[in-house]
Parts: sequence; structure tokens; C-alpha cells
Amino acid sequence: MTDYDIKGWCPGALRPMASGDGLVLRIRARNGRLTPDQAQGIAGLARQHGNGLIDLTSRANLQLRGLNAQGHAATIAALAEMGLLDSDARSESRRNVILSPFATVGGPAWQVAEGIARAMTQPDAPDTPGKFGFAVDEDVPVLGDVPSDIRLRQIGTGWLILPDGGDWGLSAPDTDSAVHAAMALTRWFAQGGIHEGRGRMRDYLHRQPDLPAGAGPAPQMPMRQAPGPGPAPNGWMLGFAFGQITPAQLATAAKAGPLRLTPWRALLIEGATEPPPVPGAILDASDPLLRIHACTGAPACPQAHADVRALARQLAAHLAPGQSLHLSGCAKGCAHRGRASLTLIAEGPDRFDLIRDGDIRTPATQTGLSAAQIPL
Ligand code: SF4
Repeated sequence: MTDYDIKGWCPGALRPMASGDGLVLRIRARNGRLTPDQAQGIAGLARQHGNGLIDLTSRANLQLRGLNAQGHAATIAALAEMGLLDSDARSESRRNVILSPFATVGGPAWQVAEGIARAMTQPDAPDTPGKFGFAVDEDVPVLGDVPSDIRLRQIGTGWLILPDGGDWGLSAPDTDSAVHAAMALTRWFAQGGIHEGRGRMRDYLHRQPDLPAGAGPAPQMPMRQAPGPGPAPNGWMLGFAFGQITPAQLATAAKAGPLRLTPWRALLIEGATEPPPVPGAILDASDPLLRIHACTGAPACPQAHADVRALARQLAAHLAPGQSLHLSGCAKGCAHRGRASLTLIAEGPDRFDLIRDGDIRTPATQTGLSAAQIPL
């Protein structure tokens, strides 16, 4: 039994999710890129119809918060004009493709990500669960820590197509066949990996001993650590505490160039060669706030037991170098699925369970701590 709802789907623009602060509307920018005009337009919509808070999500999307039904209708009409709306909610929910934010616009990885998005929005696309997704990397992979069911990695001019959690993969000689192989793997998963509309590739591999046609051993891949704020191969990356930004920050960033949304809840300003002057952005990769994951929490999330972001700001100054902290308003752990030095789960406004060196599912080492008792 859990004390939180498992929805099994993510919000979209056409299918927003109700939260404690109104509707949450997710914008899935194609290949995670926004032109300056699109970013300015979104900032205006957040100001006019939202509550002024915009989330950068771990799936490289943007979320507007605090909309009402009227504001939602006006927002999706504006998004359609900006070319940021899918034709229907089914297509929107299946278009879960994260492209490396460092990928060259129009390059092979860009084309593969576009091809998968196109294939997944066709009427004959497999009926995958709402959270099923793809990660597309270039030669030097950076998305290894990003939750995805199928990973595609460029190897020279060819591609490896890897199921999450497996030690095998499919190979493809070019971009078109990489898309084809990714769809073949998706169909293989859809034949037995979905129950009552839910399922993830990693779980399916545990149950399914037979491999799909063409599968071969997958080589170990070099993995670059997720980058922090600072210069990037194609621009400059800006961090934000808890991945939350304001319309003013978004509009200011857009003045410096096109934006690439990243799964690290940071904004990459394409082409910038110095830090764009965005007030409140985190420029220092050692800032402890970047080592803290804190979900929306109270009061905006109706399932939250505490205002975890306020507590996170208090605790940041006490975090030792290299130490990471995950603060969760309930046991669902929306902000972070991975491990952290310390994970704190709110059980009441000033009552927390503590997990050391584990993730949200690891048994707690201490329970019922007040904020003052948190060992930092
Ligand atoms: S983890 Fe946080 S945001 Fe997610 S449901 Fe729980 S309180 Fe809400």
C-alpha cells in the first residue's frame, strides 16, 4: 500500500494534470529545442495564465503551473500557433524522446530523434505506456543516467539500439535503419511488456528470456558525467535551484539565443560563449543547490506532507562537498529516482524518514526526525 497516487502517465499540453496549485501543463518541445520566439511566447503564457512558476523537468520538457480551465484553453491555442502542440493527446503522450542537448541541429542524432517521434505518432504506433521513452545520444553518450526504456547511441556512422537494463542490443548502419530498429524493439516490448496500460522495458527483460531477432551482445560504452553549469560544446548551460524558473528568467535567457532543454533541469543557451545574464541562474557547478533534488512539495502538491523546497534551501549551506540530498514531500519520489547520500521523505510537516546512501525505495535508517534532527 502506498500513501500517494501512482498515475502512470505524465501531463501534456492537451492532457494537463490537476495539482494543488491548479493545472500542470507540460510542453514537449521537439528535440528539446525552443526558438527565442517560442521561449518568449511560453514566458508570456506563464505570466498571463499560470502562477508564474515554470518547471524544467527531468524529461527535458517545460511545465507551466497554476492554470485554470480557461487559461488552459487559451494556452493550447497559443501553443498550436507556435508549432508546439501535437495533433491529439495520444500522439503527445507517445512522443517521449530525449535527445542529447549537445546534438547538432539537423545532424544524425537529431534526425534519429525526429524519426522516432514521427514513427511514435503514427496511427499504427505501438500503444506504449505513458512513461515509456527513448534517449538518443551522439558518439559520446551523456544520457546514461536519464531514465529511458530504449537508448540509441551513435557509433561512427552507425547506431546501437539498447533496451534499458539489458546487456544486448540491436545495431543499425544508418539513421533510417536506427529508427526502424528502435520501432522493432518497441513492438517486441509491446507484445508482452504491458499490463493494464503499464510496464517498463527493464522489468520486461527480467521476465522475458527470449531476445528479439537480430539481438547481439552490447559493448560497454564510455559515459560522460552529467554536465553542470558552464561552457558546453554548443553553448552555455545555466542551472536553477530545483529546476524551477520564472517567466522573467525564461524570457531573459531567450534573448541570448535558442534554448535547449536538458534532462538535468538546466537550460542550455545555444551559441552562447559566456554566461548569459539571467538573474538567479546558478553559474557555479559547485553550488550545493545543484546537489539537492526537491520535489514540488507543499503547498502546490496535494500529496505532499511538507514544504520540502523551503527546507532544502535551509539545508543547502550544511551540505558537505560531494554530498547529495533528495528531499521528497511523500514516498513517491517524483524529483529523483536515483541514489543520494541522504534521502529524506516527509511523513508530516516536521517529520522525516532518513535513508543513507540509497534511493527512495531503500529501507529508512532513521524515522520520525524533525528538521532540527536531520544529521547535516
Ligand atoms: S514526491 Fe513530491 S511532488 Fe511527487 S507526489 Fe509526492 S509530494 Fe507530490
